[in-house]
Amino acid sequence: MHRHTLRAAALALSAALVSHSAGAQAAGDPKATEVWTPIPKILTPGATGADAPNDAIVLFGGKSVDAWVTASDKSPAKWTVANGVMTVNKKSGDIMTKRSFRDYQLHLEWRIPPGLEKFVGQERGNSGLYLAFNGEDGYELQIVDSYKNTTYVNGQAASLYKQTPPLANAMRKPGEWQTYDVVFTAPRFKADGSVESPGYVTAIHNGVLVQNHTALKGFTRYTGAPEYKAHGALPILLQAHGDPSPPISFRNIWLRELGRR
Ligand code: MG
Repeated sequence: MHRHTLRAAALALSAALVSHSAGAQAAGDPKATEVWTPIPKILTPGATGADAPNDAIVLFGGKSVDAWVTASDKSPAKWTVANGVMTVNKKSGDIMTKRSFRDYQLHLEWRIPPGLEKFVGQERGNSGLYLAFNGEDGYELQIVDSYKNTTYVNGQAASLYKQTPPLANAMRKPGEWQTYDVVFTAPRFKADGSVESPGYVTAIHNGVLVQNHTALKGFTRYTGAPEYKAHGALPILLQAHGDPSPPISFRNIWLRELGRR
């Protein structure tokens, strides 16, 4: 045998011994792979998946719109509240949260009123959940009636508007409540304002995965290409769309902040 060959054989033998002994240890002692700390925080979940856990920030619990302001002038939100439901006031316009958020888990329910068949495409029950809004631009998870209502697919319900169509159309009929459960990871920016990591959106519509850790390409725009502009924690916005159909409603909106601020 050549010296090199001998040496390679010796290395292979010792590697085999190491892996054999590691395997034996794992097989013989399951405790070697147990982790006991840090202990995950203990919380009380909601009675159902729609109800807020006890560490959630309730953004609309059925009684008041106190967590929200009118986006255009920061005056108190003027959307109407009745029977535990908040309805868009198209005249007063978009509303946004008083508080700003970075990464979070959000639950929100929305309902398209029945009888809107004469309105078509983007004109039927259009609204929008802006996952972050800087006063001018944001990231819109589309809200619109997509039950037997054809429109461009990157503008149907649960699309990241004009960027990414949903993985499926899980729309319930008008008049029924729709649920969104969303995980938003805000983008991170370098000191020079360039993107360090994009924003990510995971969304579940009526229990169906519709966005799977989808990378945002920038702010969602009605016209033109998406674009990023550096930001930190931002409010969430609900859109009062100018379409001619009657206003849609919301209920049961809560959020859990994730990670460091
Ligand atoms: Mg919209």
